[in-house]
Amino acid sequence: MENVFSSKHPLVMHKLTKLRDRKTEPKKFRELIREIAALLVYEATNDLLVAPTEIETPLEPIEGASLQQKIGLVPILRAGLGMVDGIWGLMPSAEVWHIGLFRDEETLKPVEYYNKLPIEPTVSVCLILDPMLATGGSAIATVDILKEWGVEKIKFIGVIASPEGISALHKEHPDVHIHVAAIDRELNEYGYILPGLGDAGDRQFGTA
Ligand code: URA
Repeated sequence: MENVFSSKHPLVMHKLTKLRDRKTEPKKFRELIREIAALLVYEATNDLLVAPTEIETPLEPIEGASLQQKIGLVPILRAGLGMVDGIWGLMPSAEVWHIGLFRDEETLKPVEYYNKLPIEPTVSVCLILDPMLATGGSAIATVDILKEWGVEKIKFIGVIASPEGISALHKEHPDVHIHVAAIDRELNEYGYILPGLGDAGDRQFGTA
């Protein structure tokens, strides 16, 4: 499917296998989420715009390149939080704008509870961070919010996606690039991804 990228990087596949393992403790789980997020973003940002930049090495002048676009990281609370640090290490001047959505357990629809975006957009590229693209409801709602805010380019970065989540997000927002470490088999009746990794929030925060 166009604009959907499932990483085939050996490091990503290796770390994802450890992440899925039920025996992996929260401390290791957080470390793996951080590392996988950084690897996925490295792949997902290969089209960022750069401008020629003159500098001088200790030996001679050279034309280098500097990033042109202001980037916003948009973790969806709470599971997306663990993806911020690894990515921030790669792009320390990125702004971080949190979006709080929870999934109504009956309707499985997202309900917004935190959004402090200012009126005017302050970034031109946004990377939405959520480890699990399950029904797609939260991702779609977040893209809606960011488009309304006026962001020019939006990408979704997740760890595991369901085919249902990919289809739903792609149908509503075909322009949004989706980058994940794996696309799993299916959603179960409770909206969990199979085989998945369980509850990504609980496993990070030790609340299972
Ligand atoms: N959220 C999770 O944390 N896990 C799933 O499998 C689906 C949604």
